[in-house]
Amino acid sequence: MPLSEELDMATATFESTAPGTGAVVGVFPVHDTDAVTETVARARPAAEHWAALGFGERKLRLAAYRGYLARRLHELADLVHRENGKPHADAVLEITLAIDHLAWAGAHAPRTLGLRRVRAGLLAANHAAYLEYRPLGVVGVIGPWNYPVFTPMGSIAYALAAGNAVVFKPSELTPAVGVWLAAAWRAAVPDCADVLQVVTGAGETGAALCRAGVDKLAFTGSAPTGRRVMAACAETLTPVLLELGGKDAMIVDDDADVPAAADAAVWGALSNAGQTCIGIERVYATDAVYDRFVAEVTAKARDLSAGAHEGAHYGPMTMPGQVDVVRRHVEGALAAGGRAVVGGTVDGALIAPTVLVDVPADADAVREETFGPTIVVSRVADAEEGLRQANASVHGLAGAVFSGSRTRALDLARRMRSGMTSVNSVLTFASVPALPFGGVGESGFGRIHGEDGLREFTRAKAITRRRFPLPVDLMSFTRPEAAADAVARVIGLVHGRHR
Ligand code: NAD
Repeated sequence: MPLSEELDMATATFESTAPGTGAVVGVFPVHDTDAVTETVARARPAAEHWAALGFGERKLRLAAYRGYLARRLHELADLVHRENGKPHADAVLEITLAIDHLAWAGAHAPRTLGLRRVRAGLLAANHAAYLEYRPLGVVGVIGPWNYPVFTPMGSIAYALAAGNAVVFKPSELTPAVGVWLAAAWRAAVPDCADVLQVVTGAGETGAALCRAGVDKLAFTGSAPTGRRVMAACAETLTPVLLELGGKDAMIVDDDADVPAAADAAVWGALSNAGQTCIGIERVYATDAVYDRFVAEVTAKARDLSAGAHEGAHYGPMTMPGQVDVVRRHVEGALAAGGRAVVGGTVDGALIAPTVLVDVPADADAVREETFGPTIVVSRVADAEEGLRQANASVHGLAGAVFSGSRTRALDLARRMRSGMTSVNSVLTFASVPALPFGGVGESGFGRIHGEDGLREFTRAKAITRRRFPLPVDLMSFTRPEAAADAVARVIGLVHGRHR
């Protein structure tokens, strides 16, 4: 599988490098406005052909794609490891989830989107009513680097299954993975090769994709970039889906299984070096469990090792600039009276597992997305206070509740201001393809995954068909004068009794 696109001498290029070592992983073209526009133009006839194939034929080809990915899982995982820095095993997990989503999207598209009859209702009783969800055409997907397979596939799989062609711009930090995914599509589905294409480059290439006349732009990344994407898309009234950052909280209630909560918090906060949009960044533990929880988290976090070596629990930071953000948050928390019970140190791109306590609620480490291997644990009087603090955030992506009571946990989960919440585990919703994925507030809007994720890449189409004429046609100039009064009487009988 080639890691680099064919390059001619006139094309500007950029390198992607391995985090930590700086070894070059691949060289890629910087696609400019013309190149992006050409790619989208190539996608147009491909989209028409793909849409015309219908659900059954598309499902076969999506299956061929996932089969191809499954057979080369370790090859792709190795590339993700090299380019993103995460352990090979984590990359395997990420790809496994993406394959599962591809399977679900292909299998559920017909029933979710296909033509179906709906009740016509009283006023149109002599008509049949139909609803279907038709593809939009060409969807632009702009992705981040932290889950370079799973995250963009959340848009790509659902957009493809809904009948669209996709032009994908991977992050400039993980272009090799994006190019690999598109090459895999061409190899697995050669008769629809242009249905999934990739363009490479940094922000300017992404901005060009926003302005290239795509029918929808699915963006996953930071909130500041999301604002720029939305502004660029507004120029051409291109609809957008925004999957942005989070500051996810876990609530640990009085009757929670504390060791299980601690284990999940450590994984949710520190795996992938904390570079997880739905990672746990804050924990609100009730007074009853706080000391035990902090002791368990401390013991577990101390055992973890960061690095590029075999057996490391997580890798170096993928994006060099993020190290400064993490350092600023940790230093700010300590300066404000917080304590690092574990870690707090930075060594180049390696950040030690860091557990912070006694951090004031207005510190950046509590308010802003840190996106590093850190966790802030705060003491609260009870779960209600935990919920209040969890919800006091401009972000609202996901979260977790640990509680011994199913009723109480579900109640807290439902009132958590977030798009997704897991009870007695972390991040689980992302592995349930039937569940929609997306945030509220500054975490964005729109949904990938599940039936909502399929519909996100479609437009609803409504059709009525007259089955037989009525003696009186209300929507005709031939209707008798008394007809409106008769209708008013019927409506009075049906609806007028409601007070
Ligand atoms: P980023 O915003 O820096 O970049 C994301 C993508 O946008 C990249 O491909 C980049 O090249 C492109 N881009 C940059 N400027 C652009 C512009 N002006 N127009 C169009 N595209 C442009 O984000 P990142 O650092 O790659 O990713 C980390 C962020 O992504 C974090 O905030 C994380 O929480 C978020 N994230 C969210 C989800 C989710 O599903 N909600 C998933 C993963 C990551």
